[in-house]
Amino acid sequence: MLEILTYPNPILKQKSKLVGDPTSLEIKQLISDMTQSMRAHEHGMAIAAPQVGKSLRIFVIEIDHEVMLFINPEIQKLSGKDVRAEEGCLSFPGKYFPIVRPNKVKIKFIDATGQKQIMKASGLLARAIQHENDHLDGILFTERIPANELEMEPTV
Ligand code: ZN
Repeated sequence: MLEILTYPNPILKQKSKLVGDPTSLEIKQLISDMTQSMRAHEHGMAIAAPQVGKSLRIFVIEIDHEVMLFINPEIQKLSGKDVRAEEGCLSFPGKYFPIVRPNKVKIKFIDATGQKQIMKASGLLARAIQHENDHLDGILFTERIPANELEMEPTV
């Protein structure tokens, strides 16, 4: 199992690279290791490769026991109304912050079999996709806390 990097590890601030061969054994192993690391944490529902020290464009989301894998994802559209909700992050253990994000997302990515996919998501899944996609660009959720919330004590 891979250790999860926590803030302020500098790898979390790097822009990740595209995956060259999504179906290689190395990538399959990485995805399996990421999923294991995510599940080892009680509130873990998503993880991005930089969080285990690999600057590659991959993230995994698990909602209602369904694991979804996104390789080389590209958000194509954000829509719907802006929704404010508490978010956590495995790289900020025990911290939760209110983050405002659009309710709907359309995303293009490569799946575990190397096929291109397009997915439309809303609600919690759309939020998780945006949070994880940010990790691939070195953006942390603390950078998206609304300015008027910054003086508030974080919920621990
Ligand atoms: Zn995170």
